Amino acid sequence: MSVQTHESDKVRVESSSLLTRTMRHRLFPGIFQWAVLLMLLFTAYAALFTTAIPEQNFALVFVWIFWGTVAPISIWLIGRYWCAMCPFHMLGKALNKLFGPGKPVPRWVRRYGPWTALVLFVVIVWFEHAVNIFQSTTLTLILLVPVLLGAVIGALAFRNIEFWCHHFCPLLPIARNYSTMAFVGVRAVEGMCEGCSVKACYRGDQSISGCPVGLYLRNLESMQDCIACGQCFRACPTSGALGARFRGFLDEFKRLRLPRLEGSAFAALWPGALAIHYFTLNSVGDGMMKNWMASLGTSSYLLMWTLVYVGAIVLSLALVGGSSAIASILSGEKLKAVFARCAYAFIPLGVGIHTAFNMPRFFGMQGLNRASHNLLAIFGYSLQGPVLVLGPEVTHFLMFALLGLGLLTSVIALYYVTRNNSVTGRISMAPVSLAMGVVSAAVGSLFVTLYY
Ligand code: SF4
Ligand code: SF4
Repeated sequence: MSVQTHESDKVRVESSSLLTRTMRHRLFPGIFQWAVLLMLLFTAYAALFTTAIPEQNFALVFVWIFWGTVAPISIWLIGRYWCAMCPFHMLGKALNKLFGPGKPVPRWVRRYGPWTALVLFVVIVWFEHAVNIFQSTTLTLILLVPVLLGAVIGALAFRNIEFWCHHFCPLLPIARNYSTMAFVGVRAVEGMCEGCSVKACYRGDQSISGCPVGLYLRNLESMQDCIACGQCFRACPTSGALGARFRGFLDEFKRLRLPRLEGSAFAALWPGALAIHYFTLNSVGDGMMKNWMASLGTSSYLLMWTLVYVGAIVLSLALVGGSSAIASILSGEKLKAVFARCAYAFIPLGVGIHTAFNMPRFFGMQGLNRASHNLLAIFGYSLQGPVLVLGPEVTHFLMFALLGLGLLTSVIALYYVTRNNSVTGRISMAPVSLAMGVVSAAVGSLFVTLYY
């Protein structure tokens, strides 16, 4: 195993690690894509042709509770490997191969695509809740149709899978932001790219295509856009130039230079959107919604849900934006720059809140346990006992622990992103960490309302 250490950024690249060898392998990620595609087809079968009782339908429990918990956790732990395995990614590449590579994506796509993806994601969360998609197999399957169309049209019209997978996929906001925390990264070994004129990792050559989302490894600083497909490993002609490596804690925040405003906006609004979504999914929160409807004199759940959802997002944005404004006044730096950087530090808090809300769902009777029972029931088997069901004390402890960890990690991330900047320096720390504390206290009080 060859290990190289670079003093410039203290990055260790293990160029022959198991992970690197796996990503370089010609069967990667195809073999996983086929496995996920089979799983998707099986889930569609379960949705359409097994029981219509939502709690007993494998597809609903698997998609909304199992995958809905495991996928976000995997992204913040190891990055966007789900994107590498995504069947739509596989379909896009196959269409590109069959019908030609298409033209490069125009500038407007690069400019407005990520903002469109952000709006789409926020609207989809609203829609899922508004129609209670978690109880409907039909709507769950229908939700896949626009995603399928976007991937197909993008792959037919433009080069590679960049149009959809890099600009418009509605899962991009969460995939990008969560992967900033990932402990795994792909990186060019410093010095190995010097004098390389082929740039095959980026543009490919006659025999192999380059990065499907248009990344140039030599300059790659962040894992936000990397879908971990390994194509660059296979395309690069320089042996040992690329490595998949384990990264340090909050490594990307330490090196954050050019935060993306759409990522900051999502990090700022996500705690509010998440909290109200999960709170009102719970029967206690749902009961409170009905009381609010009665107080407003409306019988429209849709109207009430829209009001509280938009209200929570605006509140969350106002809190992060307001604290950034105070930091901007104190430091004299432009608000846009302070917001772009400081809002990024809310990502770990969002991750903590998201994972915390999923704990009682995943480890309760209706989570992993129900998915396991439902799966075996399709094949005519039945399980006798519960599967990994944790008691309320344990899941509630996990919730508060994850919320606390999210807050602590966000404050550390804030320290890293502000220390890189000589103008703002630590001045931003006080108001922004106070805002993080307020968000955490508000979410903690929701936990107490739901479970105590
Ligand atoms: S990763 Fe490989 S192909 Fe890309 S610039 Fe470096 S040496 Fe060239
Ligand atoms: S840099 Fe591009 S080609 Fe390499 S793993 Fe990431 S997405 Fe795939």
